[in-house]
Amino acid sequence: GGLSRHLSSSSSKMAPVTKQYDYIVIGGGSGGSGAARRASGWYGAKTAIIDAGISGGCCVNVGCVPKKMTWNFASINEAIKAGKHYGYTTGEVSFDFKSFVEKRDARIKVLNGAYESNWAKEGIELIHATATFVSAHELEIKPKDGSEAYRITAPHITIATGSFPTKPEKIPGSQYGITSDEYFLIKHLPKKMVFVGAGYIAVELAGVMNAIGVETHLFIRGNTFLRKFDPMIQETLTKHYEEAGVIVHRNHPGIKEVIQLNPGADESDPREKQLKIISNDGSEIVANELLWAIGRSPETRGLGLENLDIKLQKNGHIAVDKYQNSSVEGVYALGDVTGQAELTPVAIAAGRQLGNRLFGPPELKESFLNYDLIPSVVFSHPEVGTTGLTEPQAIEKYGKDKVKVYNTKFSAMYYDVFPPEEKKKNPTQFKLVTILPDEKIVGLHILGDGVGEMTQGFGVAVKMGATKKDFDSTVAIHPTSAEELVTLR
Ligand code: NDP
Repeated sequence: GGLSRHLSSSSSKMAPVTKQYDYIVIGGGSGGSGAARRASGWYGAKTAIIDAGISGGCCVNVGCVPKKMTWNFASINEAIKAGKHYGYTTGEVSFDFKSFVEKRDARIKVLNGAYESNWAKEGIELIHATATFVSAHELEIKPKDGSEAYRITAPHITIATGSFPTKPEKIPGSQYGITSDEYFLIKHLPKKMVFVGAGYIAVELAGVMNAIGVETHLFIRGNTFLRKFDPMIQETLTKHYEEAGVIVHRNHPGIKEVIQLNPGADESDPREKQLKIISNDGSEIVANELLWAIGRSPETRGLGLENLDIKLQKNGHIAVDKYQNSSVEGVYALGDVTGQAELTPVAIAAGRQLGNRLFGPPELKESFLNYDLIPSVVFSHPEVGTTGLTEPQAIEKYGKDKVKVYNTKFSAMYYDVFPPEEKKKNPTQFKLVTILPDEKIVGLHILGDGVGEMTQGFGVAVKMGATKKDFDSTVAIHPTSAEELVTLR
């Protein structure tokens, strides 16, 4: 058919196949690394990772890791502020963000090296290049160092190229704003910053900036942010952000245009940037930085997917079955590029299961990742932890009569010495969604200081099928906030 015609006409011009592998993984991020290491390190498959960027992918370089480090940086500022309520004299507090960023960058360099040395130790060949499919089992490799292109083949190829932050190209001037990728280049804090979006990234980064003294504006289309989360989380956290000083523009009509007022300004120094942001209702705001956090798009650019008869979903994600098989035999996809729960540990787990299935012993030939009950945490201020169904999802799935919900709202002991009006502003709020008659827990939603660490353990319990009775029969650890989850009435 058309495909083979295309291949035979183009392949004559191409360099010959120079190398054959058992397994090729495109993308050296969390998922790709997990897949390759399982295949090569555990089962000895001759494996190559093709990566055009910096080893470790988004999570290590411009995601989870630098984000959490910056969240820690901001949390220290919050603790210092809390100090005065405990009787500490902290005086004028200042910090050097640039020196923190340099330490953060140094740590990330260490992690990049750790990725590469683990791959080398496990016999994985790292190829710094872009890869383009010529056919299902054959890739054209264009090395990053500019040397000549060549082709490699493997019976099994996994696409783990991840995603990139979406910019609304249609909005004039949108290019003057940054995304989370460039956020991590900021060394000098802007005075005033606008965030657009209502998901994990907008909420986490706006929370950090607000906590370290940046005038923070958050434009959200709806009335609350984190709209995929339980309504309790949405309402409590949106209100808390407002009380903590974030200027939340609820029901924002959208941005019409962005004008750069100071075009000569040093792009690397957001203090000098002056962006006039005009909204669809005619309102205007001038800020030093604008960050788009409106979701991420699958990274399939340049992969040559048009040369494969591969099925994509409506939004461009690669369609896969529960075994991570794409519609093309021998081609698999996992992680963000498939749009399945865009989380690092999900991609790693999917990669490992795929490695087990393709190269593991016979008893693992049916391995796949179960995507149910994946716990996750938003590193907001305070954190949010969640696993399972929201209350509305549970009602839709099981019917209102079957769903029994437990709620609690309290003030953590940490705030007992705060003035009452300050104490009130720092809620801890938990919700369990259970199903009658045995009150099996199908959803857990927790918000407050420390829930980031709490969620993992409770995630195990919920995954094991815990009931409310199991929680109740566990002796509380006192005094903690977490104990409220085993004493709910
Ligand atoms: P998300 O998909 O989480 O959220 C983006 C949100 O922005 C949408 O839900 C939508 O909310 C809003 N939005 C979409 N389009 C527009 C628009 N045109 N104008 C204004 N708002 C818009 O994307 P993120 O970029 O925040 O993060 C990507 C993914 O990365 C997350 O889904 C998550 O899986 C992962 N991640 C995980 C983290 C963690 O585990 N801690 C941290 C960071 C990212 P609404 O409909 O309410 O407007």
